[in-house]
Amino acid sequence: MKTIGQKILDIKEQLPPQVNLVAVSKFQPKESIEEAYESGQRLFGENYVQELCDKAVQLPQDIQWHFIGHLQSNKVKYIAPFVSMIHSVDSKKLLQEIEKQAAKHSRVIDVLLQVHVAQEETKSGLSDAELDELLDELKTLSFPHIRFCGIMGMASFSNDQDLLDREFNQIHALFQKAKQTTFSQIESFQQISMGMSGDWPLAVKCGSTLIRVGSSLFGERKK
Ligand SMILES: *Cc1c(COP(=O)(O)O)cnc(C)c1O
Repeated sequence: MKTIGQKILDIKEQLPPQVNLVAVSKFQPKESIEEAYESGQRLFGENYVQELCDKAVQLPQDIQWHFIGHLQSNKVKYIAPFVSMIHSVDSKKLLQEIEKQAAKHSRVIDVLLQVHVAQEETKSGLSDAELDELLDELKTLSFPHIRFCGIMGMASFSNDQDLLDREFNQIHALFQKAKQTTFSQIESFQQISMGMSGDWPLAVKCGSTLIRVGSSLFGERKK
């Protein structure tokens, strides 16, 4: 059996230089994260505020924590002191709260706007129309403590490669639209977060720059 460290190195070997691996550690024990850390991994993704806060105090301080789950505005304050990037921003209200909390800690927080392209109803993220509306609003708003870095999306839970290919290309197209309009002067706007354990090679072919891989590194989650 391959160790977590070997699995991480295997994936990294296959990634083009502009693509980074976020190791998704939700529901995984501290020991598994430490093992990944030993192999050089520094980017970790978590979905739940309380779990992230518990882990962040116990684990090495040079870990870059990416928040990838649904985020309620009233919980931003708990992660604002240390979070490195928030992938799951899908409203103006959330942006305003991130701005307020980041300012309080004299930090600039990296964010991605999460779009919804998958077939499942339950997944969060902005619809096409909501993205357009937010992009429009952002032209006139200023968030000095937020760095807009790109777009995040999830494809459907499916093995249909054509469907996944279409959805990843859709996410890429939404990134292009945002980059060519509201963010045309924003140099930091270059990331596309897409691709998980089952579909990351295809996501990379479609232009992903951040893959979020959990179960294929750490095994099944111990909920
Ligand atoms: C859990 C999760 C992942 C990782 O999924 P795996 O299939 O375990 O690789 C990636 N992105 C998000 C948003 C998640 O919630």
